[in-house]
Amino acid sequence: MSEAVAGAVAERFTQLYGSEPEGVWAAPGRVNLIGEHTDYNDGFVMPFALPHTAVAAVSRREDGVLRLHSADIGADVVELRVADLAPQSDRSWTAYPSGVVWALREAGHEVTGADVHLASTVPSGAGLSSSAALEVVIALALNDLFSLGLRGWQLARLCQRAENVYVGAPVGIMDQTAAACCEAGHALFLDTRDLSQRQIPFDLAAEGMRLLVVDTQVKHSHSEGEYGKRRAGCEKGAALLGVDALRDVPYADLDAALERLGDEEEVRRLVRHVVTEDERVERVVALLESGDTRAIGPVLVEGHASLRDDFRISCPELDLVVDTALASGALGARMTGGGFGGSAIVLAEESDVPAITKSVEEAFAAAGFTAPRVFEAVPSAGARRVR
Ligand code: ADP
Ligand code: MG
Repeated sequence: MSEAVAGAVAERFTQLYGSEPEGVWAAPGRVNLIGEHTDYNDGFVMPFALPHTAVAAVSRREDGVLRLHSADIGADVVELRVADLAPQSDRSWTAYPSGVVWALREAGHEVTGADVHLASTVPSGAGLSSSAALEVVIALALNDLFSLGLRGWQLARLCQRAENVYVGAPVGIMDQTAAACCEAGHALFLDTRDLSQRQIPFDLAAEGMRLLVVDTQVKHSHSEGEYGKRRAGCEKGAALLGVDALRDVPYADLDAALERLGDEEEVRRLVRHVVTEDERVERVVALLESGDTRAIGPVLVEGHASLRDDFRISCPELDLVVDTALASGALGARMTGGGFGGSAIVLAEESDVPAITKSVEEAFAAAGFTAPRVFEAVPSAGARRVR
């Protein structure tokens, strides 16, 4: 994120509110390298931050007023009173920042109002977590301005609460933690049960590799209901197996667990995905820590097959990206995010990127799909003050 971007956001703030902002903050979108649909099973995830960020210029207010403006939404400044904020399952964009203010105040932090102007380069609704970037950038700005002294993981918790309770979206803790805690050149190994985390070296450029994000630009409409069904199915699996969460089924005990589930075919498939996915995350961590980065490719492919065949949340567009990229020499590829559209990731040698990109674009055209948006994802920094 350049100084010029921070300057432009600050300048627009000054035009809108008549004085310069006290500061400017940035928080990134994320891609999940591996560990899909494990977060609500108390399992492991491994996101890294994108160079794309939500940038917010913010000043404190002491009169209880919260004013919000987004450069990316064609609307006037929205003015709210912090004392009136209450969960209402409001999915308008202002619910994300005002939900963060609500969550901070509800946790006992004295946030007495603010003026906010933001602009984001994180594509919205592409499975790259524009919503968490938005929440975390506001949380970090208020943390600094009101000297709340909260750590990254604590801000992530409060942002998750804002999204769960105030916005009304049942999301896990991964996105907010990624936005708050990632470091450049690293992926974040996160245990979603106790929130312990480890930075894992993931500097692809130094090793002559690239990671592409292919945004299919589709979002199949049944995705939210299907997410709820998968979540409920996982809970049923844990209950049938007598554990708190599927995280508690050791990989070594998987066959015995599947046996115990008997003819619960649907639940068996969900359990198999979650238990094997946690094991794949641990394998990727071990490979990256031993410097064997190229060897993670086949693990990504295994993960995709599990999401497609066992968890059943892929779609023709995502499968086409993965199949085409692998046929064109990619080291690995998988869908990422919630499924039924959104984005896939492709790990490739730098020299193979042009050919892979071309084949994917051609395959989409031949299939009659909307042209995908392909960009390179450099593992980037988490939330920070930029001015
Ligand atoms: P994702 O997080 O995968 O991008 P979500 O549906 O969780 O998708 O969040 C997208 C929502 O976040 C948008 O509908 C909008 O309400 C809000 N949002 C994202 N970016 C911006 C922005 N730049 N300005 C205002 N609201 C935004
Ligand atoms: Mg989101």
